[in-house]
Amino acid sequence: MEPFQFHDGAGAPCFFLSKWEKEFPHLSVGMSARGGGKNYALHVGDDPDRVIANRKSLAKALNLPFAWWTCGEQVHGTDIREVRAEDRGRGSDSRRTAFADTDGLVTRASGVWLTSFYADCVPLIFYSPDVDVIGIAHAGWRGTVGGIGPKMVRRMVQMGADVGRIRAAIAPSIGGCCYEVDDRVAGALQEVLPSASNEILKSIQPGKWKLDLRLANREMLILEGIRPEHVELTHWCTSCHPEYFFSYRRDKGKTGRMVAWIVKRNRGDG
Ligand SMILES: [Zn+2]
Repeated sequence: MEPFQFHDGAGAPCFFLSKWEKEFPHLSVGMSARGGGKNYALHVGDDPDRVIANRKSLAKALNLPFAWWTCGEQVHGTDIREVRAEDRGRGSDSRRTAFADTDGLVTRASGVWLTSFYADCVPLIFYSPDVDVIGIAHAGWRGTVGGIGPKMVRRMVQMGADVGRIRAAIAPSIGGCCYEVDDRVAGALQEVLPSASNEILKSIQPGKWKLDLRLANREMLILEGIRPEHVELTHWCTSCHPEYFFSYRRDKGKTGRMVAWIVKRNRGDG
């Protein structure tokens, strides 16, 4: 069954990771849909006031305090920052206060709303119930071959998590159906994932490949020790569904960004 369920409630159409929200009721986990053309990223040249207003309306719809919104400045890197309770709100209304050069965020704290922004790249969302640690990582092809997923798993293990209990979710992003890459990207992927199946990376003609970044990330997380049944995998392709998603590829670079998030909402002040 598709783990990400669409709901168009309270003016903020979103996909929710319902399975986790049912099992762990203190979590809110999801990804915005494109509805209303709402862009949530400050770095794409939109009017900042409008972006902040969009974020505030999402906060209202999810019944989360906007002051909890926390994000980094994504650079297609693999740096991961641990967010403390006192960092809550960084990047919420200004790029200046966001964590610089950061594509991964992890925290033990409640009331820290981890967010990151997408138009095709793969959102990797993490939760380890044994230590109650949450994380989110932005994995385009560079982040994927850089190993940001496995790096997040190792970070959570350093924070006390048992790798056998870590959950991961791969949210809506470009599918293998639509993601065509050249030899350079294919070669980089083969280097970090020599076992990549034809399903992950398929040659379609000399110098052209179809790459399924979601399956590549899934495979890398499992190789890092996450149990296969603990990885939730979406079937939603951002490029195939303009009614739901922005897509950098499909829209030729001129597009907004969805936000993916995870937050622990009800355990005091963390
Ligand atoms: Zn597609």
